Amino acid sequence: MTTATAEAPVVHRLTALDRCDACGAQAYIAATVGDSELLYCAHHGRKFEEKLKAVATAWHDETDRLESAPTA
Ligand SMILES: [Zn+2]
Repeated sequence: MTTATAEAPVVHRLTALDRCDACGAQAYIAATVGDSELLYCAHHGRKFEEKLKAVATAWHDETDRLESAPTA
């Protein structure tokens, strides 16, 4: 079997080099606020989601990647 072609609802553009602004963990959420982009891990993205979405002009969520991969 070759690579399964499942639907990709989110384009995964964040990499291991993208780090959470709050704790330095790998970022899975990016919020565009003004002309800057804030990066957060899944934990802090959820924590700040309500506040961020009130001011963010764009919201990018790659936390679906976490659901298929076990994390420590
Ligand atoms: Zn974090």
